[in-house]
Amino acid sequence: MTQSSTCPEPIFKSGDRFLGFEITRVTSLPDIRQTAYEILHMRTGARILHLHNDDPENLYAICFRTPPEDSTGLPHILEHSVLAGSERYPLKDVFNELHRGSLQTFINAFTYPDKTVYPVASQVKKDFFNLARVYTDLVLRPRLLRETFLQEGHHFEFADPENPNSELVISGIVYNEMKGAYSSPDSLMFKAIQENLYPDTIYRNDSGGAPDVIPTLTYEQFRAFHRSYYSPSNARFFFYGDIPTRDCLTFLDEMLDGFDAVAVQSNIAGQVCWTAPRAVSGEYPIGADEDATAKTAVNMAWMLTDNLDYETVILLEIVSWALVGSAAGPLRKALVESGLGEDLSPVTGLEKDIKQLAFVVGLRGTEADRVEAIESLVLDTLARLTEVGFEQDLIEGALHQVEFHGKEIHRGAYPYGITLMSLVFHTWLYDGDPLAGLNFPAMIEDIRRRWDQDPTLFQKVLRRWFLENPHRLLSVMEPSATYQQEQETRSREILRVITAGLSPEERERIASDAFRLKSFQTEPDPPEAAALLPAVGIEDLSPEVDVIPVESESRQGVTVLSHDLFTNDIAYLHIAFDIAQVPDELQPYLPLLCKLMTGLGAGELSYDKLSKRIALKTGGLGAHLASGFSIDGRETWQKMIVHVRMLYRNIPDAIGILSDILLRGNLSETERIRDLVFEGRNDLQAAVVPSGHLFAKRTAAASLTLPSYREEQWHGRSQLKFIHGLAEAWDERFEDFISKIEDLKSWIIRKERLVLNLTAGGQGLRLLSEAIEPIMAELNEVPSTICDVPIPALPSRTGVVIPAQVSYVAEAFPAPTYGSPLAAPLFVLSRLLSNGCLYQKIRVQGGAYGGMCQYDPTNGLFAFLSYRDPHLARTLAVYEEALRFTAGGIIPAEEIQKAVIGSIAALDRPMDPAGRGFASMIRHFSGLTDEERRRFRQAVLSMGNRELTEGALKYLANVKDRSAVAVYSEGEKMNQANKILRPPLQIEPLT
Ligand SMILES: [Zn+2]
Repeated sequence: MTQSSTCPEPIFKSGDRFLGFEITRVTSLPDIRQTAYEILHMRTGARILHLHNDDPENLYAICFRTPPEDSTGLPHILEHSVLAGSERYPLKDVFNELHRGSLQTFINAFTYPDKTVYPVASQVKKDFFNLARVYTDLVLRPRLLRETFLQEGHHFEFADPENPNSELVISGIVYNEMKGAYSSPDSLMFKAIQENLYPDTIYRNDSGGAPDVIPTLTYEQFRAFHRSYYSPSNARFFFYGDIPTRDCLTFLDEMLDGFDAVAVQSNIAGQVCWTAPRAVSGEYPIGADEDATAKTAVNMAWMLTDNLDYETVILLEIVSWALVGSAAGPLRKALVESGLGEDLSPVTGLEKDIKQLAFVVGLRGTEADRVEAIESLVLDTLARLTEVGFEQDLIEGALHQVEFHGKEIHRGAYPYGITLMSLVFHTWLYDGDPLAGLNFPAMIEDIRRRWDQDPTLFQKVLRRWFLENPHRLLSVMEPSATYQQEQETRSREILRVITAGLSPEERERIASDAFRLKSFQTEPDPPEAAALLPAVGIEDLSPEVDVIPVESESRQGVTVLSHDLFTNDIAYLHIAFDIAQVPDELQPYLPLLCKLMTGLGAGELSYDKLSKRIALKTGGLGAHLASGFSIDGRETWQKMIVHVRMLYRNIPDAIGILSDILLRGNLSETERIRDLVFEGRNDLQAAVVPSGHLFAKRTAAASLTLPSYREEQWHGRSQLKFIHGLAEAWDERFEDFISKIEDLKSWIIRKERLVLNLTAGGQGLRLLSEAIEPIMAELNEVPSTICDVPIPALPSRTGVVIPAQVSYVAEAFPAPTYGSPLAAPLFVLSRLLSNGCLYQKIRVQGGAYGGMCQYDPTNGLFAFLSYRDPHLARTLAVYEEALRFTAGGIIPAEEIQKAVIGSIAALDRPMDPAGRGFASMIRHFSGLTDEERRRFRQAVLSMGNRELTEGALKYLANVKDRSAVAVYSEGEKMNQANKILRPPLQIEPLT
């Protein structure tokens, strides 16, 4: 992560030449700590952008414009397939080799509606260039074997591979991935808008692939698409990080050797503006027995200006944020408080990954007969705002958010380089200025200047782009209990037509294709091919652990942890309240307490006023729950963690807000409470299908350990059932609910076992330290005792019915914690199995989108998972097999080495300053010392066959009879599986 607040001195100036490149523009962006080089590769016309800074996590990405001509998913299938292998690296699955055997901190590929991007990142220079070298070769010179196309795209199989007269089934990884996507209401909702808002452009097509259309794609079309679009002349190369520009260019010069300029037609035409609004309707699946009342979603979408109209785009971002970005946003508020629906539609907001932007707003949890009322409400609200304008604080809040997020060094699941890359492509892809969306401070200054000159600036934007913009789409999505069945019938019908027309020769060909595919998949790569991949060795791995600075002290009886880190003038505070003493029957209320605490009014302010103030004075504020074991596995901890992030200059105000929320919260806004509960229910419900594997894991693990039981109670199906029941009987249960929440607050907001965690630079720590004194002084000192919680008896084989065309299969085992000598072997084994036999059997051969295992030493849990899986019983058999995969008792040394390298990469995953402060606090809860971490790392580095087979595998085989299974799938599929599963699944509805 970045360690300083300056940008590197430029080493080139515009017009300079270096190797085959011409530097076309050099820009210093000191406010965001970047020196930007725009570069042209003279021979091919390839465009390069280097954002040079002092972040050691370097990122490299290759991007092609890939406009889809239909919905066969060609760009997506190609994205999967190029990564399989190239002439120089003739393996079957290079991506998986890089993924498991390198120090990558990020490796992936993304298909967008109009582009395909291949990013890799690493903190180790040698590893970085290894990855970049292989990735470039894969995209520019892939093998694109027919077998790869069949495996990744689509192919026919006979239900009984031995019998060419048996029923045909379609399989393929992208095919199953998209079946999953087409079961998710949120994806379907967005798809309907994209395809209908730009009906005369490439955006009417699904670049990911529509399951019904995917099977029409031919191998020849697939190869031709690569020839058309994957050339350096159609490429944009993006570099980010601390490696000098000369090194990046020297590398790229070598990579582009042998390529010449080619003419490419990849310009993306814009949609012509309509003269009148349009409407569209569609359906999404719900469970066959599910009640369809209040399940319609109504969205309104506007096509806005082009991404290259920079000055308008930033205004639209501010306006969009002001309208719906916070609970105080007048459009959001009008919709949510109208009672016309339950909560805001999840696709609400500004969409920028398309040439012309879109703004979407809507309600879910409504009825089709309220469409007109919703439409009028939105238009009336916009008309009123155009007249009276936004409140000043709302615009100031939006500007503060832009400033804060521009300043913050943030790395969530993705490297910071990815965040900047996404912004760059919004303009660069359409031949605009790549830096137009990066320089946040300059953008804010510019807006302030324009706003000063014209106080009606934002009203004019509303009038031009919303009120008087005829390019508006109304989209109504209704629930359908028969959707799933109809989809199945349609797929089967398509198959039936194909099968009926098959000649005996064609049946033979399908059988032999399927046979060849199976043998291709099971045959190992020749060792000499594997040796061609450049790789790091164990000797390249550092034996040292990253030490996070921490000072611990006790103040007023409270533990205060401080982390002195470079944070670019942003301070982070975590307050961890102990919740171990909260009685079991109150535990399900905790997630709602978190939501209500930060979503309601407090002190003198109503919820919307407080929300405005939060946006103005903080970079975000929230509360969540966490639990785990002590490292010896003897004790557990459970916490509610409240966090706030703020600029140094706002520390006193931000802490004041926090103190109001904790100590002077307001539970009298009854309508708002109802809205928050329903929103919580809808969000959790919508998360089930996209994260089916995690829900299945939680359900399976709940019976195994206390932390896992809590995890299910707070974030799993148990929580969904709880909140669903509450919402259904809201009026009767309301008073009791409020008294429970009040009860909970008095249980939790106490001084006892409280931990405060401060992360900032020296000055920030001093300011924070002072600011938190009054909160500590005000907290209640009543002592409490932790009660022992027996985990109730739960079924160990559960089948949960969900409306999805694919399954999610989980098996969980109780496992030891960090302190155990088995922890390191299990950690390495989980990677070995994930990237080895599970990947092979479940994804490659089974056609599922994912098959993996996870070991979590904090929660004492080991789990096998599958994602968007066409199989069920077969997958459970694969899990059994995984435990016996070393039939000979020997795991090849190079396999272990790859798993060790991958494990170290996982241990060294970079964290942003807030993440490091947080991780240190979690280690404090578990008693995990740096000494213990060193010991663990050493054990990983010296991992051998015996520790893995005699230790980890044997351990799992021994606890196999205590494992628990949960499957999330369609009911009929589970009934079928139950015919062979022993013991069978206990099948239950989702809620
Ligand atoms: Zn995919």
